[in-house]
Amino acid sequence: ASGYSLLRDPHHNKGLAFSEKERNSHYLRGLLPPTVISQELQVKKMLHNIRQYQVPLQKYMAMMDLQERNQKLFYKLLIDNVEELLPIVYTPTVGEACQKYGSIYSRPQGVFISLKDKGKVLEVLRNWPEKNIQVIVVTDGERILGLGDLGCHGMGIPVGKLSLYTALGGIRPSACLPVTIDVGTNNEKLLDDEFYIGLRQKRAIGQEYAELLHEFMTAVKQNYGERILIQVFEDFANHNAFDLLEKYGTTHLVFNDDIQGTASVVLAGLISAMKFLGGSLADQRFLFLGAGEAGTGIAELIALEISKQTNMPLEETRKKIWLVDSKGLIVSSRLESLQHFKKPWAHEHEPVKELVDAVNAIKPTILIGTSGQGRTFTKEVVEAMASLNEKPIIFSLSNPTSQSECTAEEAYTWSQGRAIFASGSPFDPFEYGDNVFVPGQANNAYIFPGLGLGLIMSGAIRVHDDMLLAAAEALAGQVTQENFDKGLLYPPFKNIRKISAHIAAEVAAKAYELGLATRLPPPKDLVKYAESCMYSPAYRTYR
Ligand code: NAP
Ligand code: MN
Repeated sequence: ASGYSLLRDPHHNKGLAFSEKERNSHYLRGLLPPTVISQELQVKKMLHNIRQYQVPLQKYMAMMDLQERNQKLFYKLLIDNVEELLPIVYTPTVGEACQKYGSIYSRPQGVFISLKDKGKVLEVLRNWPEKNIQVIVVTDGERILGLGDLGCHGMGIPVGKLSLYTALGGIRPSACLPVTIDVGTNNEKLLDDEFYIGLRQKRAIGQEYAELLHEFMTAVKQNYGERILIQVFEDFANHNAFDLLEKYGTTHLVFNDDIQGTASVVLAGLISAMKFLGGSLADQRFLFLGAGEAGTGIAELIALEISKQTNMPLEETRKKIWLVDSKGLIVSSRLESLQHFKKPWAHEHEPVKELVDAVNAIKPTILIGTSGQGRTFTKEVVEAMASLNEKPIIFSLSNPTSQSECTAEEAYTWSQGRAIFASGSPFDPFEYGDNVFVPGQANNAYIFPGLGLGLIMSGAIRVHDDMLLAAAEALAGQVTQENFDKGLLYPPFKNIRKISAHIAAEVAAKAYELGLATRLPPPKDLVKYAESCMYSPAYRTYR
């Protein structure tokens, strides 16, 4: 290959880091300025450049540009500066990128499958140059983050998520495939936008939708085999996500981050919180505001964990958990009219409309917000929690920050500094009296990369709920005494590669225990093995 094409190949390009020897042997003389620099200096330079941009979207575009130019440098930069750059390549900036994806789209970062490809999905997949795919993240763009229907512009989400599978979980970049399924959009603004890159039609629904999706799911297994991990239905509308997860959960290795990943990361925070309370989850009463994908997914995993801990049947442990939706407390008199995923939570109780009344009636020890509605944990609600509990546990999980049920400051001040608080969006540490409180952030990025690595390294063929429990326990287990002393519910994110290796090891151990692993015999030391599987962004020497 010519030196010129080497510089143009993002998988092999090292830019100014090509050594004198490499420049001689690979026809690079004259194509590069004379200086040879290290990857460390390249990272320093890129970080300096990125910090010059005031607008987050510009930082995002600079990162995407780097990924297209020099993949190893992109990952080295991201891994070494994960706390600073995660909000750029993922939420919140990726949301803005999706909104403008039509304008910033330059080169294919993944596969687009539209209604036009019906009957030819397998051929479409085969056009992608990489053959050994291990993880697919797929969206249909119907409910991107809190931003609604972004149609084909949703591609930014699978691209961003997969770069985290690599940076945080060590999955090889060439093994990751972002997919967008375009069945149209109901977003009028996009349909009228001359820069929109998707199909210009209303969303296909019903059979037409189901058929394209089924063709995709079938083609994926046919093309990549039984052990392809499909992170599915990412940011699909919840009516589709639950049904599809149920439908494909028994035939494919599927994982839904919005439901299962969220549940696992929140459960980890609750397991940690028990160390502050001194009790066990079985002693708690839970109240949720919001009974959608996140709320019911978390509730189910909590019920399962308590059932494992106590040997109580799931039907019993579910009774410790109550949910409020937009119509009030979910109770048995509403059973007929409830969506099926809410039915297990319809317990005996008189109807209650307002959250504060539900708090006073149910007397929860733990209050969790998954409503998508900001400012719903009012002063009255938090004060009610604080009067019922010595240490009220309050998780405001809705994103973005503006939709958080309450802020960290509100939770701490309204509870006179007694709340144990975590949120979906990040909040700064808060000084109250003589104390500094560090809010926990229930970031899904703690779980899915390690979970993915664990599934892949064990050759798992199905995702089992016990693996989600194992991941939650592994994450909670990474909180050190020193972290606890600072009040942290989650370990510091900068250790994420180590955290992911531990999560992967526990998930793989579960896969072996359940007979769902196909990579045999099992490695002796699973943590070491996980670490040895992880992609390294260090340059290779070319001879
Ligand atoms: P979803 O499926 O649309 O569910 C929203 C739920 O909230 C529905 O049950 C809805 O009631 C209920 N609701 C809406 N307005 C309400 C109100 N005023 N009072 C009471 N309940 C209300 O959404 P989702 O996927 O579960 O996501 C919910 C939120 O969780 C989002 O803001 C998301 O950002 C956040 N989230 C956070 C994390 C994290 O922290 N790691 C992860 C995932 C999601 P109906 O059922 O009656 O419509
Ligand atoms: Mn999501």
